[in-house]
Amino acid sequence: MRVMNPIIGITSRQPVIKTSGGDLEAHVVNKVYTDAVIRNGGTPITLPPVAPSEATRIIDRIDGLVLSGGGDIDPASYGGKLHDDMYAIDPRRDEFEFALVREAQRRKLPVLAICRGLQVLNVALGGSLIEDIPSEIGSTDHSIRGPEVVNCHQTVTIEPGSLVASAIGEAEVCVNSIHHQAVRKVAPGFRAAGWTSDGVIEVLDPEDHSWPILAVQWHPEYLAVENDAASLALFSSLVEAARRKTRVS
Ligand code: MN
Repeated sequence: MRVMNPIIGITSRQPVIKTSGGDLEAHVVNKVYTDAVIRNGGTPITLPPVAPSEATRIIDRIDGLVLSGGGDIDPASYGGKLHDDMYAIDPRRDEFEFALVREAQRRKLPVLAICRGLQVLNVALGGSLIEDIPSEIGSTDHSIRGPEVVNCHQTVTIEPGSLVASAIGEAEVCVNSIHHQAVRKVAPGFRAAGWTSDGVIEVLDPEDHSWPILAVQWHPEYLAVENDAASLALFSSLVEAARRKTRVS
């Protein structure tokens, strides 16, 4: 009997890439995500946005889900306001990912929600977002760019007993932040379980721990490049949860 690697679906972003042949519309999953899944024993597949009605059949065919980072969610979906610093708003991507979240919740599919992914989770289930952290809270240290993203620069305090704390095995982690939005109202069925010192929510935890969902506002896929133990633990926890639900043949 051969035990197969669990299949981990990863949501994608839709940039226009400059090529020698001109502009290319693409579905992109940053390689750091697929590397982190592969080195922890999963087999990644890319999920381009399709009709929300397809979410059920897609979730039938995967063992775990990474809700990846990317542009801002259309504020109309949570009763928010447009802000000048919002970027890459794509309602088609939003609606597809909201449907994935709701179906994943119904089926208790293992999920790792990262950055935008945490925000998608929150909005899909009835929460809302702070449209722009610098203009509302004043903190500017949630947004680093460039090569420093593989190193941590910000401390998050995590609630003991939350799924993220259990996966990592620590109540305090040093993280990388690349976001200008954050959770405002937490979705019903979840609670905030991790914060930076300015009070920004960095972890969501399900009230029902029988749904293995890890939701973090930072970017473990980049920290994993430098072998950060906490980040690798998040990916291995996802893959192990996915493996437990995987059929073997
Ligand atoms: Mn942050």
